[in-house]
Amino acid sequence: MPSVHKGGHIIPSIIARDHILKAIREIDELGVPDRRKSTNYCLIHEQRHYPPKYVISIAARYAIGTELGHHDFYGGKGSGCANQFLRNRGFQIAECQCGGLISIEMPEAASELEGFREELSRGSCCCSDLLVGFTFEDIVEAEPPSEKGVYVVRIRKRSERLPEAMISEAKQLMARVGWKMLEKKVMSRIKRLRGISQCPVIYIGGAGTQPGSRNTLKGRYSEFSGRHTAMYPVWILLYFGWELEFGWKATNDPANEEAELKRKYRKIHQERLPALVEQ
Ligand SMILES: [Zn+2]
Ligand SMILES: [Zn+2]
Repeated sequence: MPSVHKGGHIIPSIIARDHILKAIREIDELGVPDRRKSTNYCLIHEQRHYPPKYVISIAARYAIGTELGHHDFYGGKGSGCANQFLRNRGFQIAECQCGGLISIEMPEAASELEGFREELSRGSCCCSDLLVGFTFEDIVEAEPPSEKGVYVVRIRKRSERLPEAMISEAKQLMARVGWKMLEKKVMSRIKRLRGISQCPVIYIGGAGTQPGSRNTLKGRYSEFSGRHTAMYPVWILLYFGWELEFGWKATNDPANEEAELKRKYRKIHQERLPALVEQ
């Protein structure tokens, strides 16, 4: 039996279209347990909706003899995630909030399409599972609490302006300032914009991670106005019309949670950290 499934976050590639069709038939008969309903996507087959991750879990039993647990692999849309895995095997995946339960396709194709567009402008990635439990607010008016925690900066909407173009305009601006020391420092940060890819998460940090630190989520947030390592690129993105969100989760153990979050992020993104974090 392949040993790739347990906690490896990799869907065994041996699962074929046939196994998936068997899983679909089984679900037609037995239904979907409450806790295995999908949240944002459905597999649509012959006008019926199914929760993508649950389908894969069952299909695994037909392929390798072991059902996969909900946390053994990721949902989402990036390569290696459930949705892409199913698409690669010829299935239709659509954004849908029905949980994978409706048996007749709803006449709301238009709103589904709208959802897709929104996702395209945000950038899609299967790491969204990592941010369950986070509160998100528009970065220019967020009000994080005075508590320890972990936080992220996430793209809400991209503008037409691409990273290279923003970097080159920022460079002209800094050249006009005419202060080499400043230009060097500011541009070294702004060049991190090059790392922006499909993933909407561009920064992960912790507040109150040092022993005895009194730093809080509110404190780290306020550093974006003067001393945060990611503030220059964040200003540039906003200047060029990108919309960003500040997201946080309060915790008493921010150091460990930050490390854990980064470890999991790396695992999903070919060992890279979010664009604006020092690699
Ligand atoms: Zn659905
Ligand atoms: Zn991602």
